[in-house]
Amino acid sequence: MTAFFRPNVEEMTGYIPGEQPKPGTPVIKLNTNENPYPPSSQAIAALRSLDSEWLRRYPDPYANEFRQAISEVLGVPANWIIVSNGSDDLLNLVIRACAELGRNVVYPMPTYVLYRTLTQMQPAEPIEIPYGADYRLPIEELVAAQGAVTFIATPNSPSGHVVPIADLRQLATRLSGVLVIDEAYVDFADETVLPLVNEFENVIIARTLSKGYSLAGLRLGFGIANPGLLSGLFKVKDSYNIDAIACLVGAAAMRDQVYKNECAARVKASRGLLAAELKQLGFWVWNSQTNFLLVRPPDGNAEPLCLALKERGILVRYFKQPGLEDKLRITVGTDEQHQILVEALMRLV
Ligand SMILES: *Cc1c(COP(=O)(O)O)cnc(C)c1O
Repeated sequence: MTAFFRPNVEEMTGYIPGEQPKPGTPVIKLNTNENPYPPSSQAIAALRSLDSEWLRRYPDPYANEFRQAISEVLGVPANWIIVSNGSDDLLNLVIRACAELGRNVVYPMPTYVLYRTLTQMQPAEPIEIPYGADYRLPIEELVAAQGAVTFIATPNSPSGHVVPIADLRQLATRLSGVLVIDEAYVDFADETVLPLVNEFENVIIARTLSKGYSLAGLRLGFGIANPGLLSGLFKVKDSYNIDAIACLVGAAAMRDQVYKNECAARVKASRGLLAAELKQLGFWVWNSQTNFLLVRPPDGNAEPLCLALKERGILVRYFKQPGLEDKLRITVGTDEQHQILVEALMRLV
């Protein structure tokens, strides 16, 4: 068997996604940071009104309908936007275009595990630098590593913290490679660092419709950067990386900012209430600007607690990783879901 695969593929571990039970399974699903609210009714209307002609033909290679919607909403020119099949596709495009052996990929830990998987696939060398105490960004070490690509997720997963914009400015200034700022959770945060793309030609911002827009199943993300930085990414993307349905539905969802902001406000309110209840149960709860909470159970026995919750039909995420063994990541759901979670936890901790 081994002869089939390149050595780096042979050696790497594939990415292990969170458990996805079939829709309709009676579980409380707080393990993969999906939005608990349905997608915008405008997006669903766009899906229902789809003309079959859109399916017969190849889609627009640049997803211009969706790009136009982003451009209107965020006030960036359309040629500063690249659309991707989920933001995962964008992360992959950056690595494909910029990294190889000798051109390393650098990121602080803990963070999104897919950065490592995509790097090993290339192959390129992942340089993993631990976060400081209280998730202080290790700027000097990140700069010293001089990655061809540096990834910073802000707000970060699974910690939920925001990296100060001043730290990102320093990094962008002192790195000669590309700085990818992954804003997957920006819709639940106080601020965006989008203006950095105007200040630095090596900065690209990654966004997704999976979390804030309740469209994880659609697979739609995008990147924002100056056209020079995007030019290499356009060369290496699949010609038709965005299907016709995603392009239309995504454009409608993007134009419905009112609904997206309403859902985000609800999630943020529920996040605060859940954090307070968990603290009362003796959990340590990290500050979060995302749609999840990183928590440490009172006895630190996170893995058995994760399994005990699963037996009761409640899925949360446990990461067997240095620094995370005693913690759980709990997606913010509805207040009704939280009530069931908290009642279960009262019996378990
Ligand atoms: C969820 C997540 C993504 C992936 O988003 P998709 O658009 O669904 O591929 C990217 N980065 C981080 C940090 C995430 O948590």
